[in-house]
Amino acid sequence: MEPQITARPDHSISRKQISDAALKVLYGLKDAGYVAYLAGGGVRDLLLGRNPKDFDVATSATPEEVKRVFRNSRLIGRRFRLVHVYFHNEIIEVSTFRAPAPPADETPDDDNTFLAKDGLVLRDNLFGTPEEDALRRDFTVNALFYNIADFSIIDYVHGRNDLEKRLLRVIGDPDQRFTEDPVRILRAIRFAAALDFEIEPSAREAIRRHAARLEDCSSSRLYEEIQKLLSCGKAERVFTLCCELSVFEHLFPELGAWLNAPDGEGKTHWLKKSFAQIDRWRAAGFNIDPALLFALIYGEYNEWVAAQIMQSEELQHAEALIEATHRHIRQLERIRIPKAVTHHIAEIMSGQPRFLKTTPKNAQRIMRHRCFLDAFLYFKFAARTAGRHSTELDWWEQQRKSR
Ligand code: ATP
Ligand code: MG
Repeated sequence: MEPQITARPDHSISRKQISDAALKVLYGLKDAGYVAYLAGGGVRDLLLGRNPKDFDVATSATPEEVKRVFRNSRLIGRRFRLVHVYFHNEIIEVSTFRAPAPPADETPDDDNTFLAKDGLVLRDNLFGTPEEDALRRDFTVNALFYNIADFSIIDYVHGRNDLEKRLLRVIGDPDQRFTEDPVRILRAIRFAAALDFEIEPSAREAIRRHAARLEDCSSSRLYEEIQKLLSCGKAERVFTLCCELSVFEHLFPELGAWLNAPDGEGKTHWLKKSFAQIDRWRAAGFNIDPALLFALIYGEYNEWVAAQIMQSEELQHAEALIEATHRHIRQLERIRIPKAVTHHIAEIMSGQPRFLKTTPKNAQRIMRHRCFLDAFLYFKFAARTAGRHSTELDWWEQQRKSR
């Protein structure tokens, strides 16, 4: 297929907007005789007038060839090798144009040779053409190339049209692409929320059909992607989309089931407020500990579990909260939260009853604690959201000011 090419005068991307490191890599490859394109989110964000988070380069040079061009580089990954080119404050990821994924009955051997079940060699490498590379990407707006040779934009997938319409469209068949990699469901939600795009209707339907597949994804990829969803600055919209598209209950199954129970009405109030709070902290440039994010999201559910435990096991509130926290941490294991983070969540939650004891001695003791600030931010949020403990909250604010 012939791509749509937009020449330099007809688009807004200028080299001034591209980092020096990315330009060095693009020119280095071009001067060595290879095709070199800026690719992925960098091109998308520049066309939208946003500041790209990072710049990725796609090239016709093989990883070994890239390595030869840049001494300051290293091969990454075993099978799908990438090259990282290092600069003092930036890493540029360079990938060789990729061929289409092999059919499911072919498996790649260690040396990148594809073998059919009977051992026949089907293909001997992973590399492809720029067009094949574009078609392997997830969404049309993520598949645009900026060509350093003539500063044009190359578009194999009508991504520029979708960018103008602010539409997130899957490349190829949405059912197939979400089945191949269900994490794309979360990427769709993140891009739609962060860029203020609509998800194209057939993709929305496919997301609903395949959301349950998220439960089979690698827990470390899920943890990483959830972090991105929460920190994209539009967590409240992420939550709305996750509910609309029936994704939330597959990310956080027990919490989702609790929300969706017949008496669940009103329960989303806490979560909506939590996500809005996360966005406000983010907008204020506050670096939020992942433990506080999870504590906030699970907060009301955790209180509910604690109340059940208090009834059935006759425990004190503090003890019940500790027990409830341990139960919810067990649930969170499926998204492989690092141990240090789970420990911190437990401390935030189990520390809550201490805020009800307003004595100077208690204040002195707990304000020295490593987790004090996160536990206090949780207490403040919970008190305001539930409209309770305002006297205690004022008292603690005073203690903090007079310190
Ligand atoms: P951002 O970096 O702003 O989060 P991005 O679009 O650059 O967004 P990356 O995760 O950096 O996202 O990936 C770079 C590019 O690689 C994407 O734009 C997309 O073309 C491709 N890509 C990444 N993950 C996938 C995936 N799971 N399936 C298909 N293509 C992908
Ligand atoms: Mg990127």
